Amino acid sequence: MKILLLGANGQVGWELQRSLAPLGQLVICDRHSADLENPQALSELVDREQPAVIVNAAAYTAVDKAESDVERARKVNAESVAALAVAAHKLDAWLVHYSTDYVFAGNKPGAYVEDDPTAPLSVYGQTKLEGEQAIRASGCRHLILRTSWVYAARGGNFAKTMLRLAAEREQLRVVADQIGAPTSAELIADVTALLLQRIATDVALGKTASGTYHLVSSGATSWHGYAQFVIAEAARLGMPLRATAENIHPITTAEYPVPAQRPANSRLDNQKLQQTFGLQLPAWEFHVKRMLIELNN
Ligand code: NDP
Repeated sequence: MKILLLGANGQVGWELQRSLAPLGQLVICDRHSADLENPQALSELVDREQPAVIVNAAAYTAVDKAESDVERARKVNAESVAALAVAAHKLDAWLVHYSTDYVFAGNKPGAYVEDDPTAPLSVYGQTKLEGEQAIRASGCRHLILRTSWVYAARGGNFAKTMLRLAAEREQLRVVADQIGAPTSAELIADVTALLLQRIATDVALGKTASGTYHLVSSGATSWHGYAQFVIAEAARLGMPLRATAENIHPITTAEYPVPAQRPANSRLDNQKLQQTFGLQLPAWEFHVKRMLIELNN
């Protein structure tokens, strides 16, 4: 199986390099070899490489910056994704693409299921939704994997910001009225490889599996709960910190103004993925602990 991987240096892309390698011939592309600001070049790349699977881990992920950089965000998150989908359809290749909890408004009382109505609150969410819609409209075989609150030992993310701030300051204030599931790039990459392996070997499943799935850890917390967990675990491991978990104070979204509006409820129901592919998605704490041990080493 020839796999074309885009966005190979991001949090998820980096882990995909590891998890996809045993599946076949992996063509690894970063921003220099596959620029998502250039949809035409992407079509040519796919035509040239003739992959059986395209895995797109590249995205414009600067959520706040996107509010004032709409054209570029749309080019990367929607127009290039559309070009990839059309190229995949032409080849009858699979397209694996990642999307986000930010396609939802966040006002549902429970966890969002795949078919719930979307209503993004931000440019990032809107352009990611347009990417999803372009994939579905293209008719290509696809796995759209919506995830949330992604972190990894490598790359910038909330958990690492909290560790840095807790090393500098004694008191921290963190938003407590947004809930979701921190999800490890390692888990996303491992599950992606398992899904591809399943659809390649199980012919019946391969015929029916095309669609949208929520790929998130199980359970949920707030950013505040997440920060407290990270700092308590880091302290337990002996990392040098000035702030303790008790000194992380809950604040409201209104008290922390940022350019892009976030959903209050980012919870994604992950039952469909678990049931369709016979997998178990672990509780969010599991991989956070692993990352902290990795960072501590
Ligand atoms: P990262 O920001 O870590 O990585 C994104 C990658 O995209 C980077 O390697 C970046 O390249 C690359 N990229 C950006 N612009 C371009 C471009 N014009 N051409 C080529 N490559 C480009 O993101 P994650 O790994 O965290 O995210 C993976 C997926 O998961 C994305 O689809 C994202 O929307 C989705 N997601 C992420 C969440 C999160 O919390 N991070 C939450 C929900 C969904 P470079 O390294 O050169 O900058």
